[in-house]
Amino acid sequence: MALPVAEWQGRAARLWAALEPALRERLEAASLQDAVRLGCDVLRSKEEEEAALEQLCHRAPTDKKPEAASWYREQGNREFKRGRYQAALRLYSKVCLEDIARAESRGYPDRLLPKVLLRKAECLLCLGRLQDAQDVLRVLESKIALDGAMTTHLTRLKKLSQLKVKLGEKEKCPEPARGEHGGTQGEPEIWEENSRISGASSSLSLSFDADRGRHLVASQDMVAGQSLVKEEAFVSVLCPGDSLALQDGDTAWDTRATNADLYCHRCLRQLLASVPCQGCSYAKYCSQDCADRAWQQYHRTECPLGALLLTLGVFCHVALRTVLLAGFAEVSRLVEMSHHGDRNLQNPEGSCKPLSEAADAGGGSRGVPGCDSSGRYQSSYQALFHLLPHTEQHSPEHKFLCTLSVVALCKQLQAAGLEAAVLSQESPQQCSKPKTCEKTSEELSPELKTVAEAMLRHVLQLQCNAQAITVMQEMGPGDGAVVDKKPVRLATAFFPVLSLLNHSCCPNTSVSFSGTAATVRAAQPISSGQEVLHCYGPHWCRMRVAERQQLLKQYFFECRCPACLQELESGAKSVVSIRNSFCCPKCQAQMQGEEDTLCCSNEACATSASRDQLSGRLQDLQQQIKKALELLRVGKADQAIKMLLKCQMDAGTFLSPEHLLMGEMEDHLAQVYATLGKWQEAARHLKKSIEIVEMHHGPSSVETGHELFKLAQILFNGFAVSEALSTIQRAEGILSVHFGPQSAQMQELQEMKACLSELPRNILQRT
Ligand SMILES: [Zn+2]
Ligand SMILES: [Zn+2]
Ligand SMILES: [Zn+2]
Ligand SMILES: [Zn+2]
Repeated sequence: MALPVAEWQGRAARLWAALEPALRERLEAASLQDAVRLGCDVLRSKEEEEAALEQLCHRAPTDKKPEAASWYREQGNREFKRGRYQAALRLYSKVCLEDIARAESRGYPDRLLPKVLLRKAECLLCLGRLQDAQDVLRVLESKIALDGAMTTHLTRLKKLSQLKVKLGEKEKCPEPARGEHGGTQGEPEIWEENSRISGASSSLSLSFDADRGRHLVASQDMVAGQSLVKEEAFVSVLCPGDSLALQDGDTAWDTRATNADLYCHRCLRQLLASVPCQGCSYAKYCSQDCADRAWQQYHRTECPLGALLLTLGVFCHVALRTVLLAGFAEVSRLVEMSHHGDRNLQNPEGSCKPLSEAADAGGGSRGVPGCDSSGRYQSSYQALFHLLPHTEQHSPEHKFLCTLSVVALCKQLQAAGLEAAVLSQESPQQCSKPKTCEKTSEELSPELKTVAEAMLRHVLQLQCNAQAITVMQEMGPGDGAVVDKKPVRLATAFFPVLSLLNHSCCPNTSVSFSGTAATVRAAQPISSGQEVLHCYGPHWCRMRVAERQQLLKQYFFECRCPACLQELESGAKSVVSIRNSFCCPKCQAQMQGEEDTLCCSNEACATSASRDQLSGRLQDLQQQIKKALELLRVGKADQAIKMLLKCQMDAGTFLSPEHLLMGEMEDHLAQVYATLGKWQEAARHLKKSIEIVEMHHGPSSVETGHELFKLAQILFNGFAVSEALSTIQRAEGILSVHFGPQSAQMQELQEMKACLSELPRNILQRT
């Protein structure tokens, strides 16, 4: 998804292999500027490649598909009848968008819209999302007021007033209202911004040395949960999501809504009634304001290129949007500077060659790459431009693929008559009807070559500096009783300040997102002088050192964090291998050995088993668990329980009791019992899951926090008041460190607590 589609990658690889050796050598050693020039030459002589790319674009249709709406609507109705409001809501979201788009594009109000919006409001009400329900009702009312009685049946008006009454009741009780002034509890966070690094806390300082490049160090002692960096993304692009491609099977339309259906194309807020782009099917906005601003800043250029951007992948898309946001003047200034002796760029903080200025600056940040003339590091295009592109370290094939993709994109910009929009900030009216010229074989203009060079730099930078923006998305059947949330990748972004943090497999910080803003918090106390570290993905609790090092290759360094050193030097087995090991089928002792045959660690037992056979059993087990979850999804909870219990029995004969899968099965069982309203059983299973999660991830980890959050909901629903309160307190302690006191989960915990404390005494005494 980050890179171009496989077919285009394949073509680029074949083209590379077929190039004359002399040209290959020149490309290998080429600067970014020369790479673009050579890339243009190659592409001009290979018109069939461009034709092939155009062909590939047809597979990523971005035009509107009205017939899909009725299908989603039917599916939504079906889910609604089964009481699966979460699923229904997703489908209705999709319908709403399609319907609004259709209504608008045909210039008459869609008769179906009020009905769909009513159902959506009902879903939201069932899910307890009162504010959202109210928003939808408001949209509906204004729609009805606008359309008049023509399209609105009396039954619908009645339904609307019923829903409003229900909403009013729900707002009064039993759920307590949210805090009047946003924050519900706690002191406002202590935050003083650093005078030299925008968006960073004043308790940090920017350092630079040979081994670590630029990095952030604590200049004061910090407590767990303290905010260290608050940064708005310089640029972010919503990832299309997995279900964009049509699913095979008997239905033509996938039932899962994609990211583009659920989140604003610009600000990444969750969509309710949305404003779709008039020109394409993939850009949907939370408001007219977002739609207008996106159009003005970048979408007028991107809109006609939707299919090409999907084909070339998110990195190319981010690169294009970056130059559009920066503006051509700034792009060409920095590109020029990079040609003429900007030492920062020619010798960019190479991991073995420190800049002499940095050492001379006497502790200041003057001379540190990316800082402005006053020595201030800002979340700006200049800082972004100075992120390392690692031009020499990428494989030549990869560089070639990126070059071809960027050049093809720029040629398309030129052919579609979008050059003027890229090079200047004209008003959208002037650009709304671009004059197209068909001469795709034409040479790129010098300005577009500059743009291509900057884009190539950004695509290469992204390999090390792309930051995933994640959201906590609700998982599972979503009947509203127990909400299981998992982090889901939503967008790819550049955060110039966040990029200053180095990686550790055992980091001392935690990152969370709200819209396009990132917040880095201390995950544990950090003392003055310590480096502030962030995990790029491979965490010591989730992977063995070899797997981590493999993944970290893309960042062009070998991790030497304490976790890696310990595992590498002592040859000690990682916690992951010990805990996720097999056990002896006869005596349940741990199985040992690195070879194909594993032996029981209990000498008296001497049982041996083949690793392949045990791995096969593990795979079968995972398949069975999947089937059980599928049963739950279609509402067959009793069968799901039977199947999961059988899986557990089976797993006990060959998996270590601490195996993560053992915990996952407990978690699934808890989920099934919760859907049946059997709260005590659900709590019993979830507590076992929590034990295992704590063992793997630690008692103050995000993972443990999420599990405790679920347990709190189960206890809350089961009226286990005192236990619920203590669980809420534990969950708050952990989640506030990672997400801050204002996060949605913290708010929900607060609401549960307030509700429990307001319960009538007779209920309290019963428990
Ligand atoms: Zn928005
Ligand atoms: Zn559009
Ligand atoms: Zn490490
Ligand atoms: Zn044994």
